[in-house]
Amino acid sequence: MTETITKTTTETKAEVTFASLGFANSILHALNAAGFTKPTPIQEGAIPAGLAGRDVLGIAQTGTGKTAAFALPILQQMAANKLHNRRFATRALILAPTRELAAQIEADFKKFGAGLGLNTVLIVGGVGRTGQVNRMSRGADIVVGTPGRICDLMNTRNLLIDQCQFFVLDEADRMLDLGFMPDIRKVVAALPARRQSAMFSATMPTEISGLAEGLLRDPVRVAIASVSSTPSKIAQHVHFVDAGGKRSLLASLLKDPSFTRAIVFTRTKRGADKVALQLSQEKISAAPMHGNLGQNARQRALDAFKSGEVRVLVATDLAARGIDVTGVSHVVNYELPNEPESYVHRIGRTARNGAEGIAVAFCDATELAYLNQIEKLTGIKMHVAGGTRPAHAQGQKPARHPDLVVRKVKPRRPQYAGAARSRAA
Ligand code: AMP
Repeated sequence: MTETITKTTTETKAEVTFASLGFANSILHALNAAGFTKPTPIQEGAIPAGLAGRDVLGIAQTGTGKTAAFALPILQQMAANKLHNRRFATRALILAPTRELAAQIEADFKKFGAGLGLNTVLIVGGVGRTGQVNRMSRGADIVVGTPGRICDLMNTRNLLIDQCQFFVLDEADRMLDLGFMPDIRKVVAALPARRQSAMFSATMPTEISGLAEGLLRDPVRVAIASVSSTPSKIAQHVHFVDAGGKRSLLASLLKDPSFTRAIVFTRTKRGADKVALQLSQEKISAAPMHGNLGQNARQRALDAFKSGEVRVLVATDLAARGIDVTGVSHVVNYELPNEPESYVHRIGRTARNGAEGIAVAFCDATELAYLNQIEKLTGIKMHVAGGTRPAHAQGQKPARHPDLVVRKVKPRRPQYAGAARSRAA
């Protein structure tokens, strides 16, 4: 019988910690260095099941922390049971629909498994296969790849999965959309019956639940309720403003002493640096926080923000979750996110522990569609605090944002905007 755990991404209870889940010290150290202070809801649900050797069916989108939800139990089990690798064989296989996602997953395995001496190999198309074959010749602990190239190396026996102990199928519904099902069936047929498997999918169309039935054995099902609800204690305002007017609007708002502790979100790391610098020039104490800063610099910024030494933290979506600072009076969306769920995560940094909070969105002409998406998701129409809501904004399709990299794609190997989004953070 399938056991179901349903969680919501906007609430994480503090009881479960990574240390309480029993991870090896080197993994805990890596989690700490990455700024992961407590598990996200999908991690809370999936990690104990994974550590117990159970199969997992995760219904969750990217952005929920699902990578660590499947990577950490695999790493922990490998740490506890080191094996000599057979030539061309792997102990774990992770399939992802795009090269970018596969590379990101591989990087996470390397990051969290840094102290474990494991051999991780990325096998994706678009680059030469010789280097991949050479790396596989030594045998691998973990292979992360896209289905086409994985099947290619399996066909030439440069990748052997007959003794694979761990199998993960990530973003299964996207795999279906991209026409990867035949390749996936081939891979699954070559796996040994005795293995631990996990499958993650944002949605569950019939074909995917059919696949899950064949792939998973008595799985623990972890469903993350969609991140649509915003806490009612947050007053949500929007200012309609030209892109060029955002800088002075922010400075004038921050002159209001009721902005005791504010997080300002930008879409890009460069944007965060720029806005923090501009605020400092206006004599408003501000620090940037984003993925380009080293862990020490990030921690320093966060500590200064927590202590009140710095009044404004200017951050990318890196800080949209996991950051738990009490007394954040305002969240300012200097630039609206292109994914409405990110807005919900961002504004959830205020009104914590029963407090009240204010969310202020700046919306320029290129962001009207993002605003529509956000209001549709949350079901809340923001109060217009400045400017006028353009009448034509309703129902407008999202404009392509200038910092989204869009490349020409072949039908079977498409890129998608998620990759650009993750680069932006
Ligand atoms: P994912 O859904 O795995 O792509 O993760 C989304 C983002 O959340 C990534 O930037 C992760 O680094 C980050 N993340 C995942 N788990 C945690 C956590 N427990 N605490 C803080 N950030 C996390």
